[in-house]
Amino acid sequence: LVSRDFHPDDTVVQVGNAKFGSKQVVVIAGPCAVEGHEQVMQAARVVHDLGLMVLRGGAYKPRTSPYSFQGMGVEGLKILAEARERFGLMVVTEAVDRESLNYVAEWADIIQIGARNMQNFELLKAAGHSNKPVLLKRGLSATIDEWLMAAEYIAANGNPNIILCERGIRTYETKTRNTLDLSAIPVVKQLSHLPIIIDPSHSTGQWSWVAPMARAAVAAGADGLIIEAHPNPTEALSDGPQSLSLPHLSELVESLRPIAEAIGRTL
Ligand code: PEP
Ligand code: MN
Repeated sequence: LVSRDFHPDDTVVQVGNAKFGSKQVVVIAGPCAVEGHEQVMQAARVVHDLGLMVLRGGAYKPRTSPYSFQGMGVEGLKILAEARERFGLMVVTEAVDRESLNYVAEWADIIQIGARNMQNFELLKAAGHSNKPVLLKRGLSATIDEWLMAAEYIAANGNPNIILCERGIRTYETKTRNTLDLSAIPVVKQLSHLPIIIDPSHSTGQWSWVAPMARAAVAAGADGLIIEAHPNPTEALSDGPQSLSLPHLSELVESLRPIAEAIGRTL
């Protein structure tokens, strides 16, 4: 179902006014984790003022250490929903199991399936039964074929609205948190009709490397980006080192516009 052989035309996944897989480059931005009301509202205001349409923020956090901040859960989803009402933004947030998926589907506009759950087949099936679009991240060490087969699980269970997200893969390199596989953009576009976006934050792990990779991704034809940004990155409870400050987010977004225009797209 996700193969270009069976569906030659690009799939456009529309969420509010955001159209993934169209001439628009959809930039999603916001904090790694929802930490509180003020933090989300400050980020959402900047996202809105930049003319962006989608806010990110994790309420359920799949952390490497059980002692790290695990997220605010439903309280976090409610804060995101308030930001959506206040600023007219669409919201994407991660579901980590069937229970959180039900809450995310109720409160958010896009269900994120994280890298660590890319092959959680029961979760993929449940996302397939949902009526909300799914942002499917590539697994930490997944091949493109495995990733597309994970998308197939969602499609085969009834949900055709899938956005793929390359977020860096494990290689021998340790300077960067992961290795961003930009070639996934043309490869996925040849193999599949689904939109593909790039996460320059989790792939690099370092805020100062986010902008160059984001610009490269737009130039390479990505349908969008998902970028971590925080009102005060040094105080962030999750992924501070890779989070852009809000002024740096603004600077980056402005620098992306001419690149998008040069290849006939809007941002
Ligand atoms: C995230 O987007 O917050 C996240 C946990 O990403 P990934 O699943 O790609 O590690
Ligand atoms: Mn993160």
